Formats: sequence, C-alpha cells, structure tokens
Amino acid sequence: MKVIETIQEMTHYTETAKSSGQRIGFVPTMGFLHAGHQQLIETAAEENDIVVVSIFVNPLQFAPGEDYETYPRDLSADKRAAKAAGGSVIFAPSADEMYPRSMSVRVLPAQGTDVLCGRSRPGHFDGVLTVVQKLFHIIDPDTAYFGTKDAQQLALVENMVHDLNSRVRIGRVPTVREADGLAKSSRNENLTIEERKEAPELYQALYTASAQAGVGISAEMIEAAACEHLTTHTRGSVDYVELLTYPELTKDIAPGKTVILAAALKFRHARLIDNLIFTWPDNEGTAQFKA
Ligand code: AMP
Repeated sequence: MKVIETIQEMTHYTETAKSSGQRIGFVPTMGFLHAGHQQLIETAAEENDIVVVSIFVNPLQFAPGEDYETYPRDLSADKRAAKAAGGSVIFAPSADEMYPRSMSVRVLPAQGTDVLCGRSRPGHFDGVLTVVQKLFHIIDPDTAYFGTKDAQQLALVENMVHDLNSRVRIGRVPTVREADGLAKSSRNENLTIEERKEAPELYQALYTASAQAGVGISAEMIEAAACEHLTTHTRGSVDYVELLTYPELTKDIAPGKTVILAAALKFRHARLIDNLIFTWPDNEGTAQFKA
C-alpha cells in the first residue's frame, strides 16, 4: 500500500487520477484502523475508482490534557487494514507538513457546538472542520465518507459543505459494532479489562432508554433513564446524555422527527461516545431506529 507523506505528492496523485476521469473517494481518519473505518473504505471503494485514506492525528482538535500524545498509532497495521478494505493510497502527513506555521485562519462552526461533544470539548470542532477543509482542498475528492458514530461531526461537516458551497459529496456510513454492541473505536484499546466488560452498557443504555420513546414521554425522561443505566451498570463517569433532533441538533423534538440519543462516558484512559438515531414515534408507535 502506497503511503504519501507530502501535500505536493498527494495533490499531484489525485490531480492525475481526476484528469483521467477517475472518481475519488476519501476517508479521513486518525488511524489505528478497525472494522468501522474499513466499512467506510469498503463503501468508498464500491462507489469510486480510487480511495484515499488519510491518517492524521490532528493536534488542532485536541485540547491540552486530552489524549493527543497517547492516541494509539500503528501505520504498518493500518496499511494492511486499508488495503484489505479496498483503499488505494494512504495520505499520512506529519503535523509539520499540515501546519508549517501557526494558522492565520480557522473554520469555526457558527451553530451546533453548544451541545454534545461541542459543549464538553470547546474548540474541538474548530480543529475538526479546519483539518477536514484542508484535506478537501489537498485531495479534492468527489465523495468523502464519515461515520454516524461521530454524529455531531458528520452534521457539522454536512453544514460546512452546504454553507461554503463545497463540491464534495458527503457519504454517511452507519456505526459498526462489536458482537456485544460496543461501537468499534480506536480508543477501546485504552480500556482496562474491567472497563471493556462494562463498555457495552453505553449502547445498552441508549437502546433501552430510546425504546421508551412515545406519547407522554419527554426527552428529559429518556435522558434520565440512559444516565441512570450508565451510573448503575458502569464505573465510568457520564460526560453527557442528550436527546436532540438530527441533524439540526436542537431540542425541537416532535412526533415523526428524526432524533439522536447520544452519550459520552469517561473511563480512566478512554472517553467513549455512542448514539442511536431514530424517528420519534407518533401516537401508539415505537421508536424506528435508523443507525
Ligand atoms: P476516527 O479515526 O475516530 O477519527 O474516525 C474516522 C472516521 O471513521 C469517522 O468518520 C468516524 O465516524 C468513522 N468511524 C469511527 N468508528 C466507527 C464505527 N465504529 N463505525 C463506523 N464508522 C466509524
């Protein structure tokens, strides 16, 4: 698997491919690839001629004290995983290559960051959108693929593409889970054996609480049920549990609307996030899950 480390070579690679009429799919990641990333790569490979997988742990989206230094990295394994899923080339620039000087400009989301991870990680999505926009400029893909596992990120990227009239199409890929329901994540690596046993309760909490959605049930009741499940069944600390409309991320919940129940749970060395997206039921109906 070819690994490109410079922006110049990456740009040349995709320009050449595009000039011969090839469609470029792009999967941005922070590496330590697992079956979730591979699902994105497989989807991209089905829909495009070439798939660029970027591997870049972006310092701009980590606050001091977060896990930038300890974020797991393994480029050799990533090469094998990307190739097996149908990736064509890996773009793995250094931080100096991406940020040779301090940035004079950043992409700042104007809405949708006062909830979920945006509230608990101030500035995080400024870093995410800035690097995603840079990568879009470098790679110039036809379609870029994002997981609904990071649902707020996906919503903000879709907003950015829409509001900045970017030509990149955004592909949504549903969350890939372990057999016990735990969403695949590079950060699962940092769980202790005991924490790993408790971690599937994050999905269980969301699933059990969202199944209660219906007439006479408020968002607060669902959030409280999920929170109670987490505090009863795990030793992690609940960062947030929120029920919002999706992808607008407002409290404006109503029958028939698509909603997201999302949570973040902090273990000692890993902060895990997960969500369920479903239709808020009307009358006697029950929640219809979408992802
Ligand atoms: P990351 O490397 O964690 O930044 O993730 C890169 C991309 O993979 C993002 O679009 C994520 O939403 C997506 N992703 C991460 N975990 C999963 C998963 N379990 N299922 C599907 N997509 C995922």
